[in-house]
Amino acid sequence: MGQSRRDPGRGRIPRVTDAERRAALEAIATEVRDCTRCRLHETRTKAVPGEGDPSTEVVFIGEGPGQNEDLEGRPFVGRAGGLLVNLLGHIGWTRDDVFITNIVKCRPPGNRDPEPDEVAACAPYLHRQLEVLDPAVIVTLGRHSMGRFMPGARISQAHGTTGPVDPSTGAHDATVFAMYHPAAALRTPSIERERYEDVARIPTVLLGSRERRREARLARQEAALAASAATAATSPIGPAIVDPDADPTDQLTIF
Ligand code: URA
Ligand code: SF4
Repeated sequence: MGQSRRDPGRGRIPRVTDAERRAALEAIATEVRDCTRCRLHETRTKAVPGEGDPSTEVVFIGEGPGQNEDLEGRPFVGRAGGLLVNLLGHIGWTRDDVFITNIVKCRPPGNRDPEPDEVAACAPYLHRQLEVLDPAVIVTLGRHSMGRFMPGARISQAHGTTGPVDPSTGAHDATVFAMYHPAAALRTPSIERERYEDVARIPTVLLGSRERRREARLARQEAALAASAATAATSPIGPAIVDPDADPTDQLTIF
C-alpha cells in the first residue's frame, strides 16, 4: 500500500483553498496555451501546460512534450507516459494523484533537446506552478529536469537520491528526488531494475519531507508567538489593554 499523496491536515500557505489553487493553475495553463515567448510555439500543435491534482504534495517534472503530448495537449500520454503510469502503479498511485508537467511546455521539433533560451523563456510558468502547488516532493524525470533542481548532478549518481530544493525555483520548501526519464529504460534496459527501486523510495521521501515541513511550520508559529508576546510586553499601550485576569494566551489568537 502506498503512502497517501495528500495530507489534509497540513498547513500550506494560509487561506489558499483547493478551489483557488485549481483556478490559479488553470489561469497559468490558459497563458501557456496562448504563449509565443519562444520559437517552440511556431511548430507546436498544442501546448502542454501540465495536469493533475491541484492539492497534491508530489509534482513530477519531465523534459518536454513528445509527439503524442503535442497532439493531445496533455503530458506523458505516449509511450513514456505508459511507462510512468506503470511506475506509479508500483507504489499504488495513479497519475491523478500527482501533478505532472515539463520543463518546456511545447514540443521541440523532432524531440530534440530544448535550447537554453527556450528553457529560460518557459521557466516562469513552471516557477508559478510550483508556487501554487507548494509541493513537498518534486520528482525529476531525466537529466534536463534534474538540472533545474540539482545543478551539476550526474543522473547515473543522483538517481534515487534527494536534495533540498532552492526556493528560487518557486517551490518554497520542497525535497527533490531524481529519477531516470521513464523512456530511458527503452534505450538502456540495464536500468530497468533501478527504476523500480527508485520509485519505491518515493513514499518514504514524502513522509520525510512532510515531517520536515511540519517541524518548520511549528518553529515558525512558535517564533511568531514569541514575537507577539514580546511586542505586547514592551508596547506602551500594552499594559493598559491587557486584562490581568485573562489567560495570556487569549491575546495570541491571531493565527
Ligand atoms: N517525455 C517528457 O519528458 N514529457 C512528456 O510529457 C512526454 C514525454
Ligand atoms: Fe511559451 Fe514555453 Fe511554449 Fe516557449 S515552450 S512558446 S515559452 S509555453
